[in-house]
Amino acid sequence: MAIERTLSIIKPDATRRNLTGRINAALEAAGLCIIAQKRLQLTRGQAEAFYAVHRERGFFHDLVNFMISGPVVVQVLEGEGAVARNREVMGATDPAKAAEGTIRKLFAESIEANSVHGSDSAENAATEIGFFFAAIEIVG
Ligand code: ADP
Ligand code: MG
Repeated sequence: MAIERTLSIIKPDATRRNLTGRINAALEAAGLCIIAQKRLQLTRGQAEAFYAVHRERGFFHDLVNFMISGPVVVQVLEGEGAVARNREVMGATDPAKAAEGTIRKLFAESIEANSVHGSDSAENAATEIGFFFAAIEIVG
């Protein structure tokens, strides 16, 4: 498999509980390298734009409120098949359905407050990385 890049977000439920380091240790242990990183307080407009694909979903408004409820850490991960690898380490969206040992199984509070985001395709990864990072901020 090729070396890929993907966008990862540590969500407000996790920054609030001081889990940034433990989550990133799990990502690194899975062979993913953090090649760009910043901590941000998203505005409502930024959160709505990032999750625009979900704007028709019933959970959209609550999701946006959750994503602006505290700081997030946005980061670019690089590694072999990074998009799928990150999704595997994250676990299922609903922590009740997430596999043992995954980040969401270990740390998520609910299907909404599920600690991490990960791009779901290489194409979306490129768009999502471009949403948060300039090329000069990514050092592979
Ligand atoms: P994933 O983050 O696993 O790719 P989705 O892209 O389907 O999941 O959803 C984006 C985010 O919206 C989820 O990570 C979660 O925070 C929230 N979400 C998804 N489904 C629900 C739901 N049924 N109720 C509340 N929040 C949800
Ligand atoms: Mg998704």
